[in-house]
Amino acid sequence: MKVRAQIGMVLNLDKCIGCHTCSVTCKNVWTTREGVEYAWFNNVETKPGVGFPHNWEDQKQWNGGWERKSNGKIQLKMGSKLKILSKIFANPDLPQIDDYYEPFTFDYEHLQNAPLSKAAPVARPRSLITGERMEKIEGGPNWEEILGTEFSKRSKDYNFEDVQKEMYGQFENTFMMYLPRLCEHCLNPACVAACPAGSIYKREEDGVVLIDQDKCRGWRMCVSACPYKKIYYNWKSGKSEKCILCYPRLESGQPTVCSETCVGRIRYLGVLLYDADQIEQAASVENEQDLYHEQLKMFLDPNDPEVRAAALRDGVPQAWIDAAAQSPVYKMAIDWKIAFPLHPEYRTLPMVWYVPPLSPINTAMEKGQMQMKGVLPDVESLRIPVKYLANLLTAGEEKPVHDALNRMLAMRRFMRDRHVAKFDNQAVL
Ligand code: SF4
Ligand code: SF4
Repeated sequence: MKVRAQIGMVLNLDKCIGCHTCSVTCKNVWTTREGVEYAWFNNVETKPGVGFPHNWEDQKQWNGGWERKSNGKIQLKMGSKLKILSKIFANPDLPQIDDYYEPFTFDYEHLQNAPLSKAAPVARPRSLITGERMEKIEGGPNWEEILGTEFSKRSKDYNFEDVQKEMYGQFENTFMMYLPRLCEHCLNPACVAACPAGSIYKREEDGVVLIDQDKCRGWRMCVSACPYKKIYYNWKSGKSEKCILCYPRLESGQPTVCSETCVGRIRYLGVLLYDADQIEQAASVENEQDLYHEQLKMFLDPNDPEVRAAALRDGVPQAWIDAAAQSPVYKMAIDWKIAFPLHPEYRTLPMVWYVPPLSPINTAMEKGQMQMKGVLPDVESLRIPVKYLANLLTAGEEKPVHDALNRMLAMRRFMRDRHVAKFDNQAVL
């Protein structure tokens, strides 16, 4: 056993209101420079939607998908020798600016000085890069905002056939939810493995994944290799950049900017202890249905005296071991199992965990539509299909998501009952 510490984050999607404050504050701190106008280290997507960059979940589009090599390892498909050569020299799998969006600014002068009109202002935005008025605007970090209906229909593109069949054309069955995204600071980072210059590294002490700007040669293998598409190319400096998990703030005891400014208070930071000897095995699990459970096995109980002793032996500082014992990330992801990794089937062992959202249930409960199983409301009567959440968070295995939603429903019911009792039945549900 080789014990290591990792900073992780839990995002409680049940509380995200899609306000984008996290993205804007992150951008203002880290990516206001020329060259990364289009880059959002943190972005918030409306799901089910195409996301940012468009279709980032479509692994076949970017990398030809994944395959098991003869040595047993799961790797990105590289295709023929010709393709490998062309990848080395031309890297054809890169998202283009249209897959992100062309950064633009609105023509505020025109908007503010235009005469009163019965119609809404129609000034086209100007490109931040060329200054020209843009002919068309096809996308943005969250272009699909509030278009749940449209994109529910498109969900077939993401292998969510069951959901799609059920939802197509049925307006009353459509749903949407918010998914804030940042670099996952993976335990098995594809970006590190892909960099020919060796410029990307994972910090030994806290697992933060960084790009050494002095070593980066701008080949962008990391951009195509990252299955979450969370590395951006700075066209001005000619180097790649990514979320640094606000490490200068972490080192001075402060939370990340996105955590501190989150309006919904959905973000939790915490330390996890894991067995680094199990990374390879956890990343190579054959059956996707087993992935989530197998990957959980590598995390260690920070309250176990043997684990604590082993961590000290392996050089983890006492303060970090104590922090792990108090960690909300450990409690939610490993102990209570209500937070899950995003697309564990990508096998990079992502370290941002998500509590699945409960669909809006107030009206359903008020109308008495919430079906009950015993004393618990039935998760199947929620609006967002469990299958959809499972495809997002547990490689399709529904039971862990089902159990987590039931736990959350039970807690919500408990808190409401307590609230109602406290106010002598005066409170409104
Ligand atoms: Fe690297 Fe992408 Fe994982 Fe971040 S999410 S550590 S960029 S592979
Ligand atoms: Fe969601 Fe918080 Fe970001 Fe608002 S600031 S979009 S609530 S994660």
